[in-house]
Amino acid sequence: MALSTKRDYYEILGVKKNATLDEIKKAYRELALRYHPDRVPHEQKKEAEEKFKDISEAYAVLSDPQKRALYDQYGHSGIDQRYAYEDIFKGADFSSVFQDLGDFGFGGGLFEDIFSDLGFDFFGGRSSRATGRRRGRDLQIAVSISLEEAATGTEKTISVPRYETCSVCSGSGAKPGTKKITCPQCKGAGRTVVSSGFFQLAQTCARCRGDGYIIQTPCADCRGEGRIKVARKIKVKIPAGVDNNSSLRVRGEGESGSAGKGDLYVVIEVAPHPVFQRQENDILTGVNISIAKAILGGEIEVPTLNGKVSMRIPPGTQSGKIFRLKGKGIPDLHGRGIGDELVRVDVEIPTKLTAEQRRLIEEFARLSGDQIKQESFADRIKKTFSR
Ligand SMILES: [Zn+2]
Ligand SMILES: [Zn+2]
Repeated sequence: MALSTKRDYYEILGVKKNATLDEIKKAYRELALRYHPDRVPHEQKKEAEEKFKDISEAYAVLSDPQKRALYDQYGHSGIDQRYAYEDIFKGADFSSVFQDLGDFGFGGGLFEDIFSDLGFDFFGGRSSRATGRRRGRDLQIAVSISLEEAATGTEKTISVPRYETCSVCSGSGAKPGTKKITCPQCKGAGRTVVSSGFFQLAQTCARCRGDGYIIQTPCADCRGEGRIKVARKIKVKIPAGVDNNSSLRVRGEGESGSAGKGDLYVVIEVAPHPVFQRQENDILTGVNISIAKAILGGEIEVPTLNGKVSMRIPPGTQSGKIFRLKGKGIPDLHGRGIGDELVRVDVEIPTKLTAEQRRLIEEFARLSGDQIKQESFADRIKKTFSR
């Protein structure tokens, strides 16, 4: 199962966050030429096609001011929640990027070959094959994991409700042994042309809903739909380092359509932890120590994501002091190192004393003259931020 985290659109095109439209067009054009499936060796064709789809998707979003603003603010989830996959491409200006490349494949070449499975065409009706054939919808599902699981990575079996091709009729929708007939209204074209003054409007055929054929005896299992709803159990590997709202793409595990399967997006929810708070790849926690330990120093037990460890605190530890346990945080999702654990130590002042304790504290106060070093506010600020 191919599993990947959806990459940043700017990163895909190799442009800066503040790139102008011209820079975005130029970057897209260069990459599009590099991944032109006709220009790579045969065995790399599939991969080049995937790359081409990814860069085209990135271009479609970043070249559209509204989609770009949405992406800048909310990332992939903003786009994915607002637009179906094929709608991301609607309205994008692909033609001006390639207008001087005659052989680049308008209305019959590259775009149509690569995107025909999506069931839409870029060039306003020039496509002839887009009728009725659609890639299955992408699906999105949320999965909740613990902070420990986010730190180590995990595997989850999730139940995904989705439509799958009906096995009885193999997706044709026709009862086995019966045939589909060509739609008499559109003669199999899937669309009809209506003239209105100067304009010619192509409309999806009302009789066959764009399929180009009609089922006379529907399959009983799927009632002629060609697909049925199932709750499919899918195993998903969740890599170490994922955070809240990380989105993992599982290719081909979305719904099936007449022209291939959509993708499944698994959105991670990391449950709040009773002891730790996450700050990027670091985790924060707090422990209380006794007044005697703060003064004398010693070993204390500190919780980590892999159980308790012992930590040494020096004599004279002040309340609020933060200690860093190197490498006890969360591994970076992209393999760039591992975070730390930050332990804030607070001194617990006893609220009840026995007579004996009280006597000793009073003795302590007498011996030390109850002197507290007075420091300026500026010194205090400096000290707070230099530790
Ligand atoms: Zn069926
Ligand atoms: Zn028809």
